[in-house]
Amino acid sequence: MGKVVLITGASRGIGRACARLLGAHGWTVGVNYLHNEPAAEETAAEVGRAGGHARVLRGDVASEADVVAMFDTLESAYGRIDALVNNAGIVAPGSQVADMDAARLKRMFDVNVYGAFLCAREAARRMSKDRGGDGGAIVNVSSAASRIGSPNEYVDYASSKGAIDTMTIGLAKELGPQGVRVNAVRPGLIDTEIHASGGRPERAAVLGAQTPLGRPGSAEEVAQTIVWLLSDAASYVTGALLDVSGGR
Ligand code: NAP
Repeated sequence: MGKVVLITGASRGIGRACARLLGAHGWTVGVNYLHNEPAAEETAAEVGRAGGHARVLRGDVASEADVVAMFDTLESAYGRIDALVNNAGIVAPGSQVADMDAARLKRMFDVNVYGAFLCAREAARRMSKDRGGDGGAIVNVSSAASRIGSPNEYVDYASSKGAIDTMTIGLAKELGPQGVRVNAVRPGLIDTEIHASGGRPERAAVLGAQTPLGRPGSAEEVAQTIVWLLSDAASYVTGALLDVSGGR
C-alpha cells in the first residue's frame, strides 16, 4: 500500500484532479465530499483506474464530529495517514460587504477557516512525531484572492483565504520540528464549478483571458503543484504560499 492522504472536497474540481494524480502515483486516497455522492464515487473510480486506491468519505468539514470520524476511518482502515490536502471551500454570490447577511458570513468562515483548522488539527495530532506519528505533509488550498481582496465580489471569501495563508505560516513553524511540512497553493482563476456556485459560470473564462497568461488555469495544473508539494521532491519546502495563478 502506498501513502495515505485525505483530500477534502474531492468530489470535483481541484480536489478530484489531486485525487486522480495521487492515484497515479500509487497513493491511497480518502475522497471527502459533502453533497454529491455520485461525483465522489466517480472520483474514487478515477483513482482506481489511475492505479491508486480510494475510499469515499462523506462529511462536512465544518463539523468537528464529521472531521474526526473521517480521520478515524482512514487511520483504522490503513493504519496511518501521511498527508492532508485541505481543499474544501465555498464562495457565495458576488456582493458588497454592506449587503452580506450574517448567515452567509458565518457559513463562509465555518467552512473555509474553521473547517480547514479542524482538518489541520486532526492531521497534526496524527502525523506529529512527538505524538506517535511518522511526519507528513499538509497542503492548504488558499487563493490569489487573499492578496487581491476581491472588492465588490468576495471580500468575505478573500479574507477567509487570508486566514489560511496565516495558518500555513504559523503551522509550518509549529510542525517543522515534528516532521510535518505545511504549504499553501494560491490558485488564480481556475476552470471549475465553483464559479457557477457563486452565480457566474463564465467568470474563469472571462477574467482568465485578462491575466498575463491569457487564459484560466485547469484543475490539473493546480493539482500538479499540490502533488509536488506533497512529494519528497519538495522535502525542503515548508511555509510557502505558492501562487498558481498565471501571473494574476
Ligand atoms: P468546486 O469545484 O466548487 O468543488 C468544491 C468541493 O468542495 C466539492 O467537492 C464539494 O463537495 C466540497 N465541499 C464544499 N463544501 C464542503 C464542506 N462543507 N465539507 C466538505 N466538502 C465540501 O471548487 P474548486 O474550484 O475545485 O475549489 C477547491 C478549492 O480551491 C477551494 O478551497 C477554493 O476556494 C480554492 N480555489 C479555487 C479557485 C478557482 O478558481 N476554482 C481559485 C482559488 C482557490 P460536494 O460537491 O459534494 O458538496
